[in-house]
Amino acid sequence: MVKGWENPPDTNLVKKEIDNLHMWCGIFHRERGETDVAFPGEEYWSNLPSNISINDFYSWTISSDFEYMYNLDIPLEVFFGEINDMPVTVVDNGSYLFYLVIDYIPPSELNNLIIAFILAIVFIIGLYLFIRRYLKPVQLMKNRIESLETGDLHSKIKIIGEDELADLSFSMNKLIKEINTLLENKHQLLLEVSHELRSPLARMQLLIAMMPDHKNLSKLKEEVEFLEGMIENLLLSDRLSLPYSKLDLQKFSTKDIIAKVMDMFPSNRDRVKIENYIPDVLINIDETKFSLALRNLLDNGFKYSKLDDGEDIQLKVVQNGEIEFQVKDSGIGISQEDIKKLTQPFFQANQTVSTRGFGLGLTICKKIIESHKGHLSIKSKPGEGSVFILHIPKI
Ligand code: ADP
Repeated sequence: MVKGWENPPDTNLVKKEIDNLHMWCGIFHRERGETDVAFPGEEYWSNLPSNISINDFYSWTISSDFEYMYNLDIPLEVFFGEINDMPVTVVDNGSYLFYLVIDYIPPSELNNLIIAFILAIVFIIGLYLFIRRYLKPVQLMKNRIESLETGDLHSKIKIIGEDELADLSFSMNKLIKEINTLLENKHQLLLEVSHELRSPLARMQLLIAMMPDHKNLSKLKEEVEFLEGMIENLLLSDRLSLPYSKLDLQKFSTKDIIAKVMDMFPSNRDRVKIENYIPDVLINIDETKFSLALRNLLDNGFKYSKLDDGEDIQLKVVQNGEIEFQVKDSGIGISQEDIKKLTQPFFQANQTVSTRGFGLGLTICKKIIESHKGHLSIKSKPGEGSVFILHIPKI
């Protein structure tokens, strides 16, 4: 083939033939002496890979060795060698040296590679679809847990197949049903007990109203009202602790919600100093429940503060990443130890204070704010006052 390229070589022919062979070729002109070579000029075609320099041609075998060993007749002088791990063959036709470099993937191999690649992709997609189908019950269980979190205690997971995952789905359905029954029973029991308690209380109230004036009458009245209040709070706390109970969420500006809560305290209105830094910011809340939480905090502020201080409660609304409703009083404060227990049902600190409560207000507050995906934080120092903060996420 090299012989056919003639002397000087027909570069068009060389290029065509070399392209067909998927090789690179560099043509050098022998100039001085036997070993010195030089690029023959622009008219000669050369596209050796850039990492090949002819000086690197370090190991070679001459064709006469092969002629001798294998009894061959090679018409031109040929050197076989290696540069940068690439096999290079140099064919010398007298005036010109042809550096032939083989570094290509034969088309068949390339095709095989493409086919293997496509097969791998198809296999991966197939495997993905198979795993997805196999793990479908897991996805259904995940969806079920999510719906459970939003208050759905009734729907069921669809059972697919008869394997372990199907058993698990079945057990989960059973478990949710049992939880639901337990919760309903507890709720029902509480309703019945409170109903049973309320009837004698109503009769007692009637009797008190009919009783002639007595120095202990108002105390008796207070006790009955206290019992009634306790039943009401217990029922409310139970309603709010129904796990995942749904909220009636709507958007309200902080200004509107404060106005609504302040309307609940017509007589104590002047004791509250309002500082709303974000009056127009909207929050996503269940109006009744959120107002109740804020009202409880203000109520406590009034209850556990000295009356003679005038404007002694501060209601501050700020945005610190989330929205904060801060209720600050300069009242009796709470010890660090008691702070940790405040949100436990029926816990009451400061029993020396003459106010009466049920120890449920802060429990209710905590439940309400947590169902809004927020939290309640408390800072206090005995004798100096307290800050109760309702943190609620921004929309
Ligand atoms: P209640 O006020 O009906 O007892 P709460 O759950 O609202 O129930 O409060 C629990 C306890 O936390 C109260 O008994 C009181 O000792 C303490 N507490 C709540 N708020 C304050 C406050 N602002 N200052 C001091 N103590 C407080």
